Amino acid sequence: MSAPLAADRSVCTGAGQCVRAAADVFDQGDDGLVVVRRQPAPAEHLDVLAAVDACPSRALSWSA
Ligand code: SF4
Repeated sequence: MSAPLAADRSVCTGAGQCVRAAADVFDQGDDGLVVVRRQPAPAEHLDVLAAVDACPSRALSWSA
């Protein structure tokens, strides 16, 4: 079952790994915590999966 890309800002530590992996999809707000800019395009799926894996706080959830 697919689920939209979501970020739990209550557990995000602002490590920024997601932005490094997929800068067009993720951003960090003024507070340093993750912001999902938009849902990933098909060509970005591998980068987003890498971001989900790299997040040290498991704040990201997504299934294509
Ligand atoms: S990698 Fe995880 S902890 Fe770091 S900014 Fe992104 S969502 Fe937050």
